[in-house]
Amino acid sequence: MNSTYPHSLGASVAVLHGVGARVEEKLNRLGIYTVQDLLFHLPLRYIDRTRIIPIGSLQAGESALVQGTVELTQIKFGRRRSLLCRISDGTGALTLRFFHFSKSQQDRLQRYTRIRCYGQVRHGTQTLEMIHPEYQLIADDQLLPVDEHLTPIYPTTDGLQQNRLRKLTAQALTALKRHNNDLPELLPDKILKKFNLPELSTAIVYVHHPPPDAATRNLMEGIHPAQQRLAFEELLAQYLSLRRLRQHLRSHEATALTRHGNLTMTFLRQLPFTLTTAQQRAANEIRMDLKIGTPMLRLLQGDVGSGKTVVAALAALQAIESGYQVAIMAPTELLADQHYSTFHGWLKALAVPIILFTGKSNKSERNRGLSILASQTPCIAVGTHALFQQGVVFAQLRLIIIDEQHRFGVHQRLALLDKGQHTYIFPHQLIMTATPIPRTLAMTAYADLDISIIDELPPGRQPVNTAVIPTSKRDDIITRIKQACNEGRQVYWVCTLIEESEVLQCEAAIDTCQYLKDKLPTIKVGLIHGRMKGADKESIMAAFKSGELQLLVATTVIEVGVDVPNASLMIIENAERLGLFQMHQLRGRVGRGSMKSDCVLLYQSPLTEMARTRLETMRNTNNGFEIAQKDLELRGPGELLGTRQSGLPELRIADLLRDVKLLPDIHIAANILINQYPDCIQPLIDRWHGKDIDYGKV
Ligand code: ADP
Ligand code: MG
Repeated sequence: MNSTYPHSLGASVAVLHGVGARVEEKLNRLGIYTVQDLLFHLPLRYIDRTRIIPIGSLQAGESALVQGTVELTQIKFGRRRSLLCRISDGTGALTLRFFHFSKSQQDRLQRYTRIRCYGQVRHGTQTLEMIHPEYQLIADDQLLPVDEHLTPIYPTTDGLQQNRLRKLTAQALTALKRHNNDLPELLPDKILKKFNLPELSTAIVYVHHPPPDAATRNLMEGIHPAQQRLAFEELLAQYLSLRRLRQHLRSHEATALTRHGNLTMTFLRQLPFTLTTAQQRAANEIRMDLKIGTPMLRLLQGDVGSGKTVVAALAALQAIESGYQVAIMAPTELLADQHYSTFHGWLKALAVPIILFTGKSNKSERNRGLSILASQTPCIAVGTHALFQQGVVFAQLRLIIIDEQHRFGVHQRLALLDKGQHTYIFPHQLIMTATPIPRTLAMTAYADLDISIIDELPPGRQPVNTAVIPTSKRDDIITRIKQACNEGRQVYWVCTLIEESEVLQCEAAIDTCQYLKDKLPTIKVGLIHGRMKGADKESIMAAFKSGELQLLVATTVIEVGVDVPNASLMIIENAERLGLFQMHQLRGRVGRGSMKSDCVLLYQSPLTEMARTRLETMRNTNNGFEIAQKDLELRGPGELLGTRQSGLPELRIADLLRDVKLLPDIHIAANILINQYPDCIQPLIDRWHGKDIDYGKV
């Protein structure tokens, strides 16, 4: 045995018994690098092997530990050969069934052998059964102890057995006992008392080795005080780190955008509509922020079609009027193109230079754009991430607008901020999203942002009427499309993911397009998908927008942002595969004008329970907030916030949905720490999110 055993918590897992290169690589895959990481790798659930259950009292469905004597072992031939072993303990009989077995196994399960097994109980032909139970033979004189605590089941990866994880965790717990100082309690007594939290190491030991009398149900649901203690600390650390990010950003200087020409007035006068009250309110909040010499960090939240773009245009004009440059970043080329033409249309009378930067811009366009940006000319640059490629230098960038934020990460935001940094003056930031994040969640997830909400749709909008129809009735839809087109309406036909493969999705769209052309020879049908060249996409969109094309077959490339108000019928194929919020985004492409709009969700039977709930929700409501709430319930917040894409530090233990109740306490605890125990903050953040956020950048 290694002389330094047990190892310190900071040591690599490689020092533990049973960890060779291959196991280490698997542990790394689970995010486990150090001994301490094992302590924070918490069980998903538990099984109870602390008691032996009398066979006579077993219920089908439960998992149980039983012990008995073999009465009969035989091979049963039939549709599927199986080895059956009947055991009894005097209270009843149970059959163990093995589909995979060896001769030696059969020999060992002799009559009168004592056996202990664990497995799930189900109904069998004669007695209750266990299929492929874990089992252990007991020698005549052997006293086999039961487990002293509930057995944890850990999240794992291919080829890493539960047993191995349990043994490694046991070593880590021994290390914790010897090196308690390696994992100090970071929360002051005051906070532990106030919120009734157990100590950290007590909580950790408990969740890995709960005693037999533990409240199993609470543990299974993740709401046991020991688990909640850990979730509390994790959420607190995340909240503190986001607050600090915000503070860092705000400690920089920004330019107060105060000069007022008459661009804004002229713009509003020539706009074909008046702003809704909600748009005005949001625009005012932004205007006030921009007038101040600290960087604005504002999230503009508004349901699909609520009119965020025009609010962004007003912000942009304020920067232009003050003599500065604006960057508008969109998640897709399609959307960048659309913003470019929208802004172009709105602003051409005002002679504001607008530049488009996407991956497809050719060299001379790009150079022309670059020279304007370098020249201190007030202008608007619209683009994809190409906007923050190397070599794009803004002389006077003071405002960054990011559309559909959930597609961009915190890190990309920071990279954009760099663009303004050579002057040491930070740009203001406006982030637009259609994801209506519930308030409490938003406070945690976006603690670094202020929020403006557009909670009203432009007048005259009619809710989209949604029908849910099996694919087998696809031909009926054809008649509907024909009718709609004859009435001058335009139609989207959306082909969704077959696999997570863009290629297959495009092929499906090409086939469907041909099918529709054959069925609808008098209708002008166009096709757009992700693998088309940028210029081709652009011209197809333009043709659809101008009404030249009547039916547009599309992949989910049109999911976000696309705005063609005359389109009023949408058919979504394989809707059952889509997430709720994705369907909502797609459906948001219709119902953007004053016309009555329809959406048909085609599905492939049979439907899973989840899919049925999703489709029903879509049929029952058009309200993005309700849909997001339901999505949250069905899928959890990681999906809704797009945790992965948004670059938010991932939560290891807490679950925002389950633990949302903790958030108000966490905000209070954060204030106590900030005011009274500021020294605790850094170690807390390091423990949970050490390397996730690069403060060096901000
Ligand atoms: P989103 O919030 O989804 O980005 P858009 O900004 O694309 O929505 O706006 C949707 C449509 O509504 C656009 O065609 C836009 O011109 C129109 N629109 C925006 N504001 C108003 C308003 N106040 N009155 C009427 N139409 C509006
Ligand atoms: Mg939009």
